[in-house]
Amino acid sequence: MRLVVLTGAGISAESGVPTFRDAGGLWEGHRVEEVATPEAFERDPETVQRFYDARRRAVAQVDPNPAHDALARLERELGDNLLVVTQNIDDLHERAGSRHIVHMHGDLLMALCTACGRRSSVTAELIERPPCPQCGERMLRPDVVWFGEMPYDLDVIDEALLACDMFAAIGTSGAVYPAAGFVITAAAAGAHTIELNLTASEITPLFDEVRHGPASLVVPSWVDEVVTART
Ligand SMILES: [Zn+2]
Repeated sequence: MRLVVLTGAGISAESGVPTFRDAGGLWEGHRVEEVATPEAFERDPETVQRFYDARRRAVAQVDPNPAHDALARLERELGDNLLVVTQNIDDLHERAGSRHIVHMHGDLLMALCTACGRRSSVTAELIERPPCPQCGERMLRPDVVWFGEMPYDLDVIDEALLACDMFAAIGTSGAVYPAAGFVITAAAAGAHTIELNLTASEITPLFDEVRHGPASLVVPSWVDEVVTART
């Protein structure tokens, strides 16, 4: 059985990763346009670097929760037949043990060099303008996908969706495309689709099956069922 799991902010939120977006739509007091667009970085790189440096520090202080652990366990059962596609830029899946994973919105722990285009691990606060380990230029930006930029690995994701038998969306709002359309692609390819979310999302009616509740509760029990069903 081949399975694709999409994870969103809801799974990280239960580890205490702040979603940064408050009721007024602000991220830590910033409008999205001030910190999460290429134009913002061009206009005011220091504000953007400070914002992501702070996010990286915040993520380092939290741990994976039982939902991350359950998905790592599922990978140990299914091997490469499980692909985790995450919209999250934290490393909680990796710290739980997931290895077959795509960060479609980038990775907070990686830097992208705007001079040579290569990626490297972040080893210092980017506000300090550390040099690129590949070319030496001090032109690193967070390797995250900003609004107006193309998500990563859409070809890999599409291929997995078209070949999967089951698609699960965990902790996603269903409001951000292209991820919101994955359920349509998977269903068209014949996959069983399931949504695991705290409450109904904007796209709940598109799923064959829906389970509401905290990810740290509903994901482990769902993984138990999937593992039991195939043995
Ligand atoms: Zn470089």
